[in-house]
Amino acid sequence: MYVCCLDLGGTNIRGTWIGNSGARGVLTSVTRPPSLEGTKQVLVSIIRRIGQDAPEDISGIGLASAGPLDYLDKRYLATTNTPELDYFQVGDFLQAEFNLPVLMENDAQAAAMGEVWQGSLAGSSNAVVLTLGTGVGSGVILNDHIWRGDHLTGPELGHVFMGENRKLCGCGQYGCAETWLNNEALLELFKESGCIPDGLREMVFSLENGDDKAWDAIETYGKRLGFYISILQVVFGIDNICVSGGLSAFVPYCRHYIWLKLKERLQNRQFWIPERIVASADPEMSALYGMARAWMPKRE
Ligand SMILES: [Zn+2]
Repeated sequence: MYVCCLDLGGTNIRGTWIGNSGARGVLTSVTRPPSLEGTKQVLVSIIRRIGQDAPEDISGIGLASAGPLDYLDKRYLATTNTPELDYFQVGDFLQAEFNLPVLMENDAQAAAMGEVWQGSLAGSSNAVVLTLGTGVGSGVILNDHIWRGDHLTGPELGHVFMGENRKLCGCGQYGCAETWLNNEALLELFKESGCIPDGLREMVFSLENGDDKAWDAIETYGKRLGFYISILQVVFGIDNICVSGGLSAFVPYCRHYIWLKLKERLQNRQFWIPERIVASADPEMSALYGMARAWMPKRE
């Protein structure tokens, strides 16, 4: 069985075919046009291209995107990444266009499923997966299933209160984890330490070169992340935690500080300390694998 999986991001629409063995095609990426008509055309052309490239006819289509969604009407609601698709029944549109069933998922929740199927936490039945990037997304896997809660929105762990700060979160509140841990927060720490990188690549470069200022910044960031995980552990008490998204590249640099803070916070409650905290091996693929997994028979 082969399915066409797409990840609808703010800048690009990425996708590939994935088989039930985990085999996959090359990743195709197209710039997302800002209009609904343009996006519809791009979706149709990218799915057609991926279908032609697949070893056999594709059996279904899987879409992952940020934000809450209406599973029944197969549409996204109030997304931050793809506003032109909000409330448009994109699932029905693609189903009619290709005569194929369409499954949709929140991207962070799809990423969590991808990590336990083919990623860094392969084989885990329970997991917390944090997607750190422009925002802080989250997915929780319980007994091999995505945990969505009664409102089907899943956990929004990026909006857990982490402490007062001056940044207003996109949700309208202050102090959300997202404002402490996203791209902007990390970049700000680097700047405050006196290291002025242009972007994430330069930050990694400064760390690799042993720049003390960069290491000061990453120490603070790692401790923040450790503090955050300690809050989540009190709720979930899960052994397997994965950091995905663009900032997963920083986990190897701040791993020591994450554990330092985590153990300090949970020293009297050792039973909440997770077994492992890993970085995604391939954050670009997590959500796509998760969408493919949605089509596969579940483990009993
Ligand atoms: Zn928030």
